[in-house]
Amino acid sequence: MPKRIIITGGSSGIGEALVRRFTADGWIVAFTCLTHEKEARALSAETGALCCVCDVRDEKSVGDALGYFMKLIHRPDGLINNAGIAQKRVLEEMPLTEWEDMMNVHLRGAFLWSRALLPALRETGGSILNISSIWGQTGASCEAGYSAAKAGLIGLTKALAKEAAPQVRVNAIAPGVIETPMLGGYSEAELEELRGRIPLDRLGKPGDVADAAAFLMSERASYITGQVLAVNGGLYC
Ligand code: NAD
Repeated sequence: MPKRIIITGGSSGIGEALVRRFTADGWIVAFTCLTHEKEARALSAETGALCCVCDVRDEKSVGDALGYFMKLIHRPDGLINNAGIAQKRVLEEMPLTEWEDMMNVHLRGAFLWSRALLPALRETGGSILNISSIWGQTGASCEAGYSAAKAGLIGLTKALAKEAAPQVRVNAIAPGVIETPMLGGYSEAELEELRGRIPLDRLGKPGDVADAAAFLMSERASYITGQVLAVNGGLYC
């Protein structure tokens, strides 16, 4: 029987690569989006993945999306909390609403989806994957809110791995600098400077993250839980 997975933020960048990778590997995929809805519908038509609009910050929106997916998916084997937003601003100039948005999209979203799906994942022996960030491991200047939220996601991963065991595995991926629309806030010079510091001498591709995710969600990773897999070309190790 094919495995079934729910991916948040599947309409762009890393999420799109995840949808493509898991459908290509024969999984039944359901994904959410908030932005890029037109692209999401096209991806759904191309891959056969189910798609619906859902704001991960909003409990009702998550409940509605879950209800829709569960009618079709019934027994999920996996959840990837991927939805995310970027930020570039010094802390002194950050409005409280922006700080709260960072926490809500990354942490509240992962909390709401994980809490909603855990009972079903316990039944199937499934697993959860949280997409954190290298900046959650090292901290990035002008990205304090983003770094704090992504570090929080690592804490959530480690705590939930203990709590949800032995039925459910919980891991995280910490991508480095990956070529997606999220890099729009960086100038060419900044990206070139970052590339120069990467031992593998290139920026990452969304597929690099999807390959690591496919491994962590598979049976080959059945003895791995509570871990953070860095996919960063050696930028931080
Ligand atoms: P992206 O902007 O291309 O895609 C972000 C996705 O999240 C989109 O599908 C968007 O619709 C969705 N989204 C945003 N806010 C949402 C909300 N409130 N509710 C539901 N969905 C929402 O970005 P990306 O680079 O593909 O990022 C994917 C994940 O990877 C994010 O969590 C990001 O923080 C993380 N990440 C990215 C990089 C990078 O260099 N691109 C590095 C480290 C971590």
